[in-house]
Amino acid sequence: MASKAHTALAALRAELAGEVFAPGDPGYDGARAVPNARTDRRPAVIARCAHVTDVVRAVRFARELDLRIAVRGGGLGLAGTLVDGALEVDLRRMHEVTVDPAAEAARVGGGATVGHLDRATLPYGLAATVGRTAAVGVAGCVLGGGTGPLDRAVGPVADHLVGVELVTADAERVHANADENPELFRALHGGGGNFGIATALTLTLHELPRLAAVAVLYRPEAGPAVVRAFREVVGGGPDEAGGTALYLSGRPAPSCAALVTYAGGEEELGALAGPLTALPHEGEVCGARALGLPYPPGGLRAHWSAQCLTALPDAAVDTVCALAADPPAPGSRLMLLPLGGAVAAGAGGHRLPYQGAAWIMHPFACWADPADDERALAWVRDACAGVRPWSTDAVPLTLIGDEGPERVRAGLGEGNLLGLEKVKRRYDPDNVFRFNHNIRPL
Ligand SMILES: Cc1cc2nc3c(=O)[nH]c(=O)nc-3n(C[C@H](O)[C@H](O)[C@H](O)COP(=O)(O)OP(=O)(O)OC[C@H]3O[C@@H](n4cnc5c(N)ncnc54)[C@H](O)[C@@H]3O)c2cc1C
Repeated sequence: MASKAHTALAALRAELAGEVFAPGDPGYDGARAVPNARTDRRPAVIARCAHVTDVVRAVRFARELDLRIAVRGGGLGLAGTLVDGALEVDLRRMHEVTVDPAAEAARVGGGATVGHLDRATLPYGLAATVGRTAAVGVAGCVLGGGTGPLDRAVGPVADHLVGVELVTADAERVHANADENPELFRALHGGGGNFGIATALTLTLHELPRLAAVAVLYRPEAGPAVVRAFREVVGGGPDEAGGTALYLSGRPAPSCAALVTYAGGEEELGALAGPLTALPHEGEVCGARALGLPYPPGGLRAHWSAQCLTALPDAAVDTVCALAADPPAPGSRLMLLPLGGAVAAGAGGHRLPYQGAAWIMHPFACWADPADDERALAWVRDACAGVRPWSTDAVPLTLIGDEGPERVRAGLGEGNLLGLEKVKRRYDPDNVFRFNHNIRPL
């Protein structure tokens, strides 16, 4: 068996256009590093694929040796990015984005990040709604049914999927769109990496030349007043309004901020955000600099979760603000993301349960010292437990890690599950792609 593995690895090294790393190889440790320092895994082999034929070859290699497969896109996920002893299919080199301005669509490589996508679309005055941070993997976020900064105006992230190019567990290349393999296409709206490795996605774009944004920074004690004002301004505002109310922990004390976006223009944004800028504040940042939350500094440990809320009554605001005022370490943040608008309307016809919620409460802990693990994890747990009285139970799976099968069911929707399990049986009956929010084959 050892010599079979040795021969197969040598063949993979020879045939892959990309790179192969095994333990002991120069570059192996660099290749297995992810931004979250809590993830310290040792894959048996890392196949850094250069194009789709590499992905096919890598899947064949894993099947030949009966290796489990983990998939790495942007590498930010909490569930399944790297696995001890598995083959890691690393898609980072496959980050090309091709924009078709006439069709207002983009073909996006399976390893592209939001940063790659934005850099390609913005020169055309076009934008996609995928994730709020440049480092987020597009495929991980879109296929996982994630949330983006423009959702209230243009609809949920997954509704922008036009087609997916997939390599299945049998190393077959399959296309899924509304006409070809429609049941697989439907399952890819939230079913994540369960059905295969997406080597490319086609997404619709929007013409948004006048996206205006302002971030207002406050002292932490202003939190409850800021969140209440944000609730009225954005939660009760037009669909074009979006943003985040957040606490950012920092030195010497946490601060509170409100980011308001308006998919229209600066004048309208100024009027809309008036109640927030009227509150005593420490500073304001406008335009592109206000957008995009950077990934916290490299080398930090991170953990996060989310709870969807039916509403944000004063009691919920006070609960959230009390928790946010006591973060585990600098770099941690607690966010309130408004839903509603075009998310609730969900014109795309692939509805995920969280679309019915009004808000997402999203605690995101970052810390340096492994000795603080328990305190940080407890803070995230307590934040979710604190708002349970207002919870809808649904959740975008992109915003949680491995929280057990019940949460996966809640994320996918009880009513969608049987159909997803049937598609899983058809495309991955052996559950080769199991390191994710797993759907078991029926
Ligand atoms: C700082 C930060 C900001 C974030 N902001 C948002 C946000 O605004 N909205 C939101 O919804 N989520 C957000 N997330 C969560 C993020 O969307 C998820 O963690 C997502 O899974 C990340 O995808 P990835 O490709 O970066 O991660 P990875 O760890 O590489 O992948 C995560 C999962 O997706 C699967 N996957 C990735 N690429 C492919 C592919 N090409 N084919 C098949 N499966 C694939 C993997 O198998 C894995 O199960 C954020 C996370 C962080 C750390």
